[in-house]
Amino acid sequence: MLAGGVGGARFLLGVRAWARRAAPDALGSDAEITAIVNTGDDMWLTGLRITPDLDSIMYALAGVNDTERGWGRVGESDRVAAELRAWDAGWPWFTLGDLDLGAHIARTGWLREGVPLSAVVARLTARWPLGVRLLPATDDEAETHVMTASGTLHFQEWWTRHRAAIPALGFEQRGVSSAAPAPGVTAALAEADVVLVAPSNPVVSIGTILGIPGIRSALATTAAPVVGVSGIIGGAVVRGMADACLSAIGVETAADAVARWYGARNSGGVLDAWLMAEEDAALVPAVESAGIRSAAAPLWLRGDDTSADVVAAALALAGIR
Ligand code: GDP
Ligand code: CA
Repeated sequence: MLAGGVGGARFLLGVRAWARRAAPDALGSDAEITAIVNTGDDMWLTGLRITPDLDSIMYALAGVNDTERGWGRVGESDRVAAELRAWDAGWPWFTLGDLDLGAHIARTGWLREGVPLSAVVARLTARWPLGVRLLPATDDEAETHVMTASGTLHFQEWWTRHRAAIPALGFEQRGVSSAAPAPGVTAALAEADVVLVAPSNPVVSIGTILGIPGIRSALATTAAPVVGVSGIIGGAVVRGMADACLSAIGVETAADAVARWYGARNSGGVLDAWLMAEEDAALVPAVESAGIRSAAAPLWLRGDDTSADVVAAALALAGIR
Protein backbone atom coordinates (compact mmCIF):
# COMPACT_ATOMS: atom_id res chain seq x y z
CA MET A 1 0.00 0.00 0.00
CA LEU A 2 0.87 3.65 -0.43
CA ALA A 3 0.59 5.66 2.77
CA GLY A 4 1.03 9.00 4.49
CA GLY A 5 1.29 9.36 8.26
CA VAL A 6 -1.64 9.18 10.64
CA GLY A 7 -4.36 8.29 8.10
CA GLY A 8 -1.96 5.81 6.56
CA ALA A 9 -1.26 4.28 9.97
CA ARG A 10 -4.94 3.88 10.82
CA PHE A 11 -5.60 2.16 7.52
CA LEU A 12 -2.48 0.01 7.82
CA LEU A 13 -3.61 -1.25 11.22
CA GLY A 14 -6.75 -2.37 9.39
CA VAL A 15 -4.73 -4.07 6.65
CA ARG A 16 -2.73 -5.95 9.26
CA ALA A 17 -5.87 -6.91 11.18
CA TRP A 18 -7.52 -8.03 7.93
CA ALA A 19 -4.45 -10.13 7.05
CA ARG A 20 -4.55 -11.86 10.44
CA ARG A 21 -8.26 -12.50 10.07
CA ALA A 22 -8.75 -13.36 6.40
CA ALA A 23 -5.53 -13.58 4.45
CA PRO A 24 -4.94 -17.31 4.99
CA ASP A 25 -8.08 -17.94 2.93
CA ALA A 26 -7.86 -15.02 0.53
CA LEU A 27 -4.15 -14.67 -0.20
CA GLY A 28 -2.47 -17.65 1.46
CA SER A 29 -1.03 -17.82 4.96
CA ASP A 30 2.21 -16.12 3.93
CA ALA A 31 0.54 -12.84 2.95
CA GLU A 32 3.08 -10.03 3.16
CA ILE A 33 2.24 -6.39 3.63
CA THR A 34 4.55 -3.69 2.36
CA ALA A 35 3.86 -0.02 3.02
CA ILE A 36 5.48 2.55 0.74
CA VAL A 37 5.55 5.66 2.88
CA ASN A 38 5.64 9.36 2.04
CA THR A 39 8.90 11.17 2.83
CA GLY A 40 7.82 14.61 1.59
CA ASP A 41 7.23 15.89 5.14
CA ASP A 42 10.78 15.02 6.19
CA MET A 43 13.18 17.71 7.28
CA TRP A 44 16.41 18.62 9.02
CA LEU A 45 15.89 20.26 12.40
CA THR A 46 18.66 21.06 14.90
CA GLY A 47 20.93 18.74 12.96
CA LEU A 48 18.52 15.81 13.09
CA ARG A 49 16.71 14.13 10.22
CA ILE A 50 13.01 13.87 11.09
CA THR A 51 10.69 11.53 9.14
CA PRO A 52 7.18 12.17 10.52
CA ASP A 53 5.11 9.85 8.36
CA LEU A 54 7.45 6.86 8.70
CA ASP A 55 7.54 7.40 12.46
CA SER A 56 3.76 7.78 12.81
CA ILE A 57 3.35 4.44 11.09
CA MET A 58 6.18 2.71 12.95
CA TYR A 59 4.90 3.84 16.35
CA ALA A 60 1.26 2.98 15.53
CA LEU A 61 2.12 -0.52 14.32
CA ALA A 62 4.35 -1.05 17.36
CA GLY A 63 1.53 0.19 19.63
CA VAL A 64 3.77 2.82 21.23
CA ASN A 65 2.20 5.92 19.66
CA ASP A 66 0.50 8.65 21.67
CA THR A 67 -3.09 8.34 20.46
CA GLU A 68 -4.28 11.33 22.49
CA ARG A 69 -1.79 13.88 21.17
CA GLY A 70 -1.84 12.27 17.75
CA TRP A 71 1.94 12.23 17.36
CA GLY A 72 5.05 10.96 19.10
CA ARG A 73 5.48 8.19 21.68
CA VAL A 74 3.07 7.48 24.49
CA GLY A 75 4.38 8.44 27.92
CA GLU A 76 7.29 10.55 26.73
CA SER A 77 8.32 13.82 28.34
CA ASP A 78 9.30 17.11 26.70
CA ARG A 79 12.37 17.88 28.79
CA VAL A 80 14.78 17.98 25.86
CA ALA A 81 12.36 20.09 23.82
CA ALA A 82 12.11 22.56 26.71
CA GLU A 83 15.91 22.87 26.73
CA LEU A 84 15.99 23.46 22.98
CA ARG A 85 13.33 26.14 23.39
CA ALA A 86 15.35 27.82 26.14
CA TRP A 87 18.22 28.11 23.65
CA ASP A 88 15.91 29.21 20.86
CA ALA A 89 17.12 26.21 18.84
CA GLY A 90 14.84 24.57 16.30
CA TRP A 91 11.17 25.40 15.96
CA PRO A 92 9.43 26.24 19.26
CA TRP A 93 6.07 25.16 17.76
CA PHE A 94 7.40 21.74 16.75
CA THR A 95 7.81 19.77 19.99
CA LEU A 96 9.74 16.55 19.77
CA GLY A 97 9.33 14.27 22.78
CA ASP A 98 12.29 12.64 24.45
CA LEU A 99 11.61 9.07 23.29
CA ASP A 100 10.90 10.26 19.77
CA LEU A 101 14.21 12.16 19.81
CA GLY A 102 15.94 8.86 20.51
CA ALA A 103 14.78 7.60 17.11
CA HIS A 104 15.86 10.84 15.42
CA ILE A 105 19.34 10.63 16.94
CA ALA A 106 19.76 6.98 15.96
CA ARG A 107 18.50 7.68 12.43
CA THR A 108 20.71 10.72 11.95
CA GLY A 109 23.80 8.90 13.18
CA TRP A 110 23.27 6.09 10.69
CA LEU A 111 22.48 8.48 7.83
CA ARG A 112 25.70 10.39 8.59
CA GLU A 113 27.61 7.10 8.39
CA GLY A 114 26.22 6.71 4.88
CA VAL A 115 23.44 4.22 5.56
CA PRO A 116 20.56 4.89 3.13
CA LEU A 117 17.19 5.83 4.65
CA SER A 118 15.55 2.55 3.62
CA ALA A 119 18.21 0.59 5.54
CA VAL A 120 17.84 2.96 8.50
CA VAL A 121 14.09 2.29 8.50
CA ALA A 122 14.80 -1.46 8.47
CA ARG A 123 17.06 -1.05 11.51
CA LEU A 124 14.57 1.08 13.43
CA THR A 125 11.57 -1.12 12.67
CA ALA A 126 13.44 -4.36 13.50
CA ARG A 127 12.91 -3.45 17.15
CA TRP A 128 9.24 -4.45 17.05
CA PRO A 129 7.35 -7.28 15.33
CA LEU A 130 5.34 -4.89 13.16
CA GLY A 131 3.95 -7.47 10.75
CA VAL A 132 4.45 -4.94 7.95
CA ARG A 133 7.52 -4.03 5.92
CA LEU A 134 7.98 -0.25 5.82
CA LEU A 135 9.76 1.29 2.86
CA PRO A 136 10.36 4.99 2.42
CA ALA A 137 9.15 6.00 -1.03
CA THR A 138 12.67 7.21 -1.76
CA ASP A 139 16.11 7.34 -0.15
CA ASP A 140 16.65 10.76 -1.75
CA GLU A 141 15.84 13.95 0.12
CA ALA A 142 12.71 15.32 -1.50
CA GLU A 143 10.70 17.76 0.58
CA THR A 144 7.37 19.48 0.08
CA HIS A 145 7.36 23.28 0.19
CA VAL A 146 4.29 25.46 0.11
CA MET A 147 3.98 28.58 -2.01
CA THR A 148 2.05 31.43 -0.40
CA ALA A 149 1.52 35.10 -1.28
CA SER A 150 4.24 36.02 1.22
CA GLY A 151 6.82 33.45 0.19
CA THR A 152 7.60 29.76 0.30
CA LEU A 153 7.51 27.72 3.51
CA HIS A 154 8.57 24.21 4.38
CA PHE A 155 5.47 22.03 4.53
CA GLN A 156 5.82 21.55 8.30
CA GLU A 157 5.89 25.28 8.91
CA TRP A 158 2.71 25.79 6.89
CA TRP A 159 0.94 22.72 8.29
CA THR A 160 1.99 22.58 11.94
CA ARG A 161 2.82 26.18 12.79
CA HIS A 162 0.14 27.90 10.69
CA ARG A 163 -2.38 25.01 10.71
CA ALA A 164 -2.68 25.44 6.91
CA ALA A 165 -4.47 28.76 7.53
CA ILE A 166 -2.28 30.73 5.10
CA PRO A 167 -3.78 30.18 1.65
CA ALA A 168 -1.50 27.94 -0.39
CA LEU A 169 -0.97 28.94 -4.00
CA GLY A 170 0.60 25.60 -4.80
CA PHE A 171 3.11 22.99 -3.69
CA GLU A 172 6.68 22.60 -4.74
CA GLN A 173 7.85 19.03 -4.35
CA ARG A 174 11.53 19.84 -4.28
CA GLY A 175 13.63 17.03 -5.65
CA VAL A 176 10.69 14.68 -6.16
CA SER A 177 10.78 14.55 -9.95
CA SER A 178 14.45 13.49 -9.88
CA ALA A 179 14.10 11.15 -6.87
CA ALA A 180 14.48 7.41 -7.37
CA PRO A 181 12.23 4.86 -5.67
CA ALA A 182 13.91 3.31 -2.63
CA PRO A 183 15.23 -0.26 -3.05
CA GLY A 184 12.35 -2.73 -2.99
CA VAL A 185 9.64 -0.23 -3.91
CA THR A 186 9.17 -0.99 -7.59
CA ALA A 187 9.62 -4.74 -6.98
CA ALA A 188 6.92 -4.64 -4.30
CA LEU A 189 4.55 -2.94 -6.72
CA ALA A 190 5.42 -5.33 -9.54
CA GLU A 191 4.96 -8.44 -7.40
CA ALA A 192 1.89 -7.33 -5.45
CA ASP A 193 -1.42 -9.20 -5.50
CA VAL A 194 -3.15 -5.89 -4.89
CA VAL A 195 -2.04 -2.30 -4.39
CA LEU A 196 -4.00 -0.24 -1.87
CA VAL A 197 -3.90 3.54 -1.78
CA ALA A 198 -4.59 4.59 1.83
CA PRO A 199 -7.10 7.36 2.61
CA SER A 200 -4.11 9.61 3.22
CA ASN A 201 -3.78 13.20 2.10
CA PRO A 202 -4.08 12.90 -1.70
CA VAL A 203 -1.86 15.90 -2.38
CA VAL A 204 1.02 15.97 0.11
CA SER A 205 1.12 12.29 1.12
CA ILE A 206 0.02 10.15 -1.83
CA GLY A 207 0.65 12.89 -4.41
CA THR A 208 4.26 13.19 -3.33
CA ILE A 209 4.78 9.42 -3.61
CA LEU A 210 3.18 9.45 -7.06
CA GLY A 211 5.45 12.33 -8.09
CA ILE A 212 8.46 10.00 -8.01
CA PRO A 213 8.68 8.98 -11.65
CA GLY A 214 9.71 5.34 -11.10
CA ILE A 215 6.80 4.77 -8.74
CA ARG A 216 4.22 6.13 -11.13
CA SER A 217 5.50 3.91 -13.92
CA ALA A 218 5.62 0.83 -11.64
CA LEU A 219 1.98 1.50 -10.76
CA ALA A 220 1.10 1.88 -14.41
CA THR A 221 2.56 -1.51 -15.32
CA THR A 222 1.81 -3.74 -12.33
CA ALA A 223 -0.53 -6.64 -12.98
CA ALA A 224 -2.10 -6.02 -9.57
CA PRO A 225 -5.33 -4.05 -9.28
CA VAL A 226 -4.87 -0.61 -7.70
CA VAL A 227 -7.62 0.29 -5.24
CA GLY A 228 -7.91 3.61 -3.44
CA VAL A 229 -9.91 4.47 -0.34
CA SER A 230 -11.37 7.92 0.15
CA GLY A 231 -10.18 10.09 3.04
CA ILE A 232 -13.09 12.40 2.34
CA ILE A 233 -16.45 11.49 3.81
CA GLY A 234 -19.55 13.47 2.92
CA GLY A 235 -17.59 16.34 1.41
CA ALA A 236 -15.27 16.87 4.37
CA VAL A 237 -11.86 15.57 5.38
CA VAL A 238 -12.10 13.34 8.38
CA ARG A 239 -9.28 14.84 10.42
CA GLY A 240 -6.77 17.49 9.62
CA MET A 241 -6.68 20.04 6.87
CA ALA A 242 -6.31 18.12 3.63
CA ASP A 243 -9.04 20.33 2.14
CA ALA A 244 -6.55 23.24 2.21
CA CYS A 245 -4.21 21.12 0.06
CA LEU A 246 -6.95 20.15 -2.37
CA SER A 247 -8.20 23.70 -2.86
CA ALA A 248 -4.61 24.82 -3.51
CA ILE A 249 -4.48 22.51 -6.53
CA GLY A 250 -8.02 23.34 -7.63
CA VAL A 251 -9.66 20.06 -6.63
CA GLU A 252 -12.99 20.11 -4.83
CA THR A 253 -13.11 18.46 -1.38
CA ALA A 254 -15.33 15.65 -2.58
CA ALA A 255 -14.67 11.92 -2.85
CA ASP A 256 -15.51 11.75 -6.57
CA ALA A 257 -13.35 14.77 -7.39
CA VAL A 258 -10.34 13.16 -5.73
CA ALA A 259 -10.91 9.92 -7.66
CA ARG A 260 -11.07 11.83 -10.94
CA TRP A 261 -7.90 13.69 -9.97
CA TYR A 262 -6.08 10.38 -9.32
CA GLY A 263 -7.50 9.21 -12.64
CA ALA A 264 -8.32 5.83 -14.14
CA ARG A 265 -5.31 3.61 -14.68
CA ASN A 266 -6.58 2.64 -18.12
CA SER A 267 -6.29 6.27 -19.20
CA GLY A 268 -2.98 7.31 -17.66
CA GLY A 269 -4.09 7.66 -14.03
CA VAL A 270 -3.44 5.44 -11.04
CA LEU A 271 -6.74 3.83 -9.96
CA ASP A 272 -8.62 0.75 -11.07
CA ALA A 273 -11.11 1.08 -8.23
CA TRP A 274 -12.12 3.62 -5.58
CA LEU A 275 -13.97 2.94 -2.37
CA MET A 276 -16.04 5.80 -1.00
CA ALA A 277 -17.98 6.27 2.21
CA GLU A 278 -21.61 5.19 2.43
CA GLU A 279 -22.41 8.90 2.91
CA ASP A 280 -21.13 9.37 -0.65
CA ALA A 281 -22.97 6.46 -2.28
CA ALA A 282 -24.68 8.86 -4.69
CA LEU A 283 -21.26 9.65 -6.21
CA VAL A 284 -20.58 6.06 -7.33
CA PRO A 285 -21.94 6.58 -10.88
CA ALA A 286 -19.82 9.73 -11.33
CA VAL A 287 -16.67 7.80 -10.44
CA GLU A 288 -17.60 4.84 -12.61
CA SER A 289 -18.23 7.11 -15.58
CA ALA A 290 -14.60 8.19 -15.22
CA GLY A 291 -13.56 4.57 -15.82
CA ILE A 292 -12.94 3.70 -12.18
CA ARG A 293 -14.85 0.86 -10.52
CA SER A 294 -16.50 2.16 -7.38
CA ALA A 295 -18.59 1.23 -4.37
CA ALA A 296 -19.63 2.74 -1.06
CA ALA A 297 -19.07 1.30 2.42
CA PRO A 298 -18.59 2.57 5.99
CA LEU A 299 -15.16 4.26 5.97
CA TRP A 300 -14.66 5.33 9.57
CA LEU A 301 -11.42 3.83 10.85
CA ARG A 302 -12.15 3.15 14.51
CA GLY A 303 -9.94 0.39 15.78
CA ASP A 304 -8.63 -2.82 14.26
CA ASP A 305 -11.91 -4.54 13.58
CA THR A 306 -13.81 -1.76 11.83
CA SER A 307 -10.66 -0.82 9.93
CA ALA A 308 -10.27 -4.44 8.79
CA ASP A 309 -13.86 -4.24 7.50
CA VAL A 310 -12.94 -1.16 5.46
CA VAL A 311 -9.96 -3.04 4.03
CA ALA A 312 -12.17 -6.04 3.24
CA ALA A 313 -14.55 -3.75 1.32
CA ALA A 314 -11.63 -2.28 -0.64
CA LEU A 315 -10.28 -5.74 -1.45
CA ALA A 316 -13.74 -6.93 -2.50
CA LEU A 317 -13.66 -4.19 -5.14
CA ALA A 318 -10.46 -5.81 -6.40
CA GLY A 319 -12.11 -9.21 -6.44
CA ILE A 320 -10.34 -10.49 -3.27
CA ARG A 321 -12.61 -11.91 -0.61
P1 GDP B 1 -0.66 12.68 7.89
O1 GDP B 1 0.55 12.40 7.04
O2 GDP B 1 -0.43 12.41 9.34
O3 GDP B 1 -1.27 14.00 7.61
O4 GDP B 1 -1.73 11.61 7.50
P2 GDP B 1 -2.17 10.98 6.12
O5 GDP B 1 -1.80 11.81 4.95
O6 GDP B 1 -1.78 9.55 6.08
O7 GDP B 1 -3.75 10.94 6.32
C1 GDP B 1 -4.53 12.08 6.53
C2 GDP B 1 -5.90 11.77 5.96
O8 GDP B 1 -6.45 10.61 6.58
C3 GDP B 1 -6.88 12.89 6.21
O9 GDP B 1 -7.00 13.65 5.03
C4 GDP B 1 -8.18 12.18 6.57
O10 GDP B 1 -9.23 12.54 5.70
C5 GDP B 1 -7.85 10.69 6.45
N1 GDP B 1 -8.46 9.94 7.54
C6 GDP B 1 -8.17 10.07 8.86
N2 GDP B 1 -8.99 9.27 9.61
C7 GDP B 1 -9.82 8.63 8.72
C8 GDP B 1 -10.90 7.69 8.87
O11 GDP B 1 -11.30 7.29 9.97
N3 GDP B 1 -11.50 7.27 7.71
C9 GDP B 1 -11.11 7.70 6.47
N4 GDP B 1 -11.75 7.22 5.39
N5 GDP B 1 -10.11 8.60 6.31
C10 GDP B 1 -9.47 9.06 7.41
CA1 CA C 1 2.35 13.56 6.65
